Amino acid sequence: MKKLQKNFVAKGNKIQKKQPQTFWQTKCSYNVKKTVIIIDSCFWHGCKKHCRIPETNHSYWVNEINRNRSRDKKVSKYYKENKWKIIRIWEHQLENQKQINKIFQDLK
Ligand SMILES: [Zn+2]
Repeated sequence: MKKLQKNFVAKGNKIQKKQPQTFWQTKCSYNVKKTVIIIDSCFWHGCKKHCRIPETNHSYWVNEINRNRSRDKKVSKYYKENKWKIIRIWEHQLENQKQINKIFQDLK
């Protein structure tokens, strides 16, 4: 997360941490030029590659992750309706610089 933030600032982008509306607040999203970048945690948002649901309280975790995923849809819908560009990325995509660069390309 920090790495992405550094890259933003290095490229002269301003990061506004305020959301257009308060209904959705997250520390994992940044607004740049009416573009919202949402970083989904592999575990909490059920990444197919990395999310391993714990054996203990299995159904609790399944519910929790499903709830997050349905909220994700609502959030995406909200931004689309308000004509924001959404870049939604997985936490694991931040692991290398190449992918971070791709995010910047998408921003243009
Ligand atoms: Zn992942």
